[in-house]
Amino acid sequence: MIQCDVLVVGAGIAGASVASLLAANANVIMIERENAPGYHSTGRSAALYTETYGNETIRALTVASRPYFTDVTGPNGEPAMLSPRGTMVIARADQQVVFEAAHKTATALSEGVQLLPRDEIIGTVPVLRPENIVHGFLEVAAMDMDVDAIHQAYLGTFRGHGGTLVTDAEVLSLRRTGNDWLIETSVGDYMAAVVVNAAGAWADDLGGRAGINQVGLTPKRRTAFTFAAPDGIESAFWPAVIDVDEQFYFKPDAGLILASPADETPQPPNDAQPEEIDIAVAVERLQTATSLEIKRLNSKWAGLRTFAPDKTPVVGFDPEQDGFFWLAGQGGYGIMTSPAMALIAAGLIEGPGIPEEITARGITAATLSPGRFS
Ligand SMILES: Cc1cc2nc3c(=O)[nH]c(=O)nc-3n(C[C@H](O)[C@H](O)[C@H](O)COP(=O)(O)OP(=O)(O)OC[C@H]3O[C@@H](n4cnc5c(N)ncnc54)[C@H](O)[C@@H]3O)c2cc1C
Repeated sequence: MIQCDVLVVGAGIAGASVASLLAANANVIMIERENAPGYHSTGRSAALYTETYGNETIRALTVASRPYFTDVTGPNGEPAMLSPRGTMVIARADQQVVFEAAHKTATALSEGVQLLPRDEIIGTVPVLRPENIVHGFLEVAAMDMDVDAIHQAYLGTFRGHGGTLVTDAEVLSLRRTGNDWLIETSVGDYMAAVVVNAAGAWADDLGGRAGINQVGLTPKRRTAFTFAAPDGIESAFWPAVIDVDEQFYFKPDAGLILASPADETPQPPNDAQPEEIDIAVAVERLQTATSLEIKRLNSKWAGLRTFAPDKTPVVGFDPEQDGFFWLAGQGGYGIMTSPAMALIAAGLIEGPGIPEEITARGITAATLSPGRFS
């Protein structure tokens, strides 16, 4: 039996980020079922930081996270976790109403949003078909994230504070004994005053293993693939291009193009794999909107984006079981919101509550509370 103050289940971006903060003041153990952290959703993202994506709460969490990403710099003072990318939201003539609403929202949120005339849209990404694209706006401040660097930074800080990561270890059951949790895992038993549920797509499943009511999380599969950029066209500096109805997106990715049909297929939590039909849909949509020819894929994958019913993350102590803390439902935003989410979670677990710079953005414990569904 190993005793600790806090046991974190899941070493993806959620678990690693909160563990990196908690380990500064407590004895923290993080348990991960896979043989390496980041195997599931964290290692499968599109790596975009955008302040105009998701609902109001998500956008506030994203903006609150930016200083963490920009404060970490390389040897010449350059940001080490973010690099310039931009996003360009595009629309056909028949999408005008949706486009105008999206543009209004984006402008209210980010100062760097520019409406583009059609010739500038095509000038920015020349493979777009001028006959199909009428509207566009650019979010200049959107960035590419180095997800591995961000994840490794959290894990490094965690280890630096004396935290212990145990991989190849599955949490099988949890039960309350006195003021502690007794946690049975595939590699032995642990005792902890607090359990943090950062189990991603399995968060409701983990709640079930602790005999706790589910909050109603739905994992949704999203597919992505890469293919060769067109010969003779400089694509490295294109922004990420996103259809205003989120029917597809594509962006440069290490000399290739990364694309997705932006699918959201509900499925039980597992090691998600891409389906041929989703790839075929993406290829068809991309070839309609652009002159890109997709003959061969360099790679393809799928991952799970896990949503609560209101598409807002679930962060807080369970209302019915002492010492069981939810850090789940990050949806398609879990990397870019991870710094703020970790600060909120650590503040609620350690006692001072949500930091003022985050409550100033309208985020309260009630907004994120797991109790909001009961
Ligand atoms: C295609 C795609 C594109 C995306 N694009 C973006 C993007 O551009 N920007 C962005 O911010 N986000 C994006 N996301 C979302 C982001 O990837 C997720 O929100 C984030 O990775 C969730 O992190 P997590 O730590 O909660 O989950 P995970 O990374 O899945 O980690 C959960 C971990 O818990 C472990 N676990 C589960 N149950 C147990 C158990 N019983 N015992 C032990 N361990 C357990 C699992 O093995 C897993 O490693 C994208 C996601 C996908 C799939």
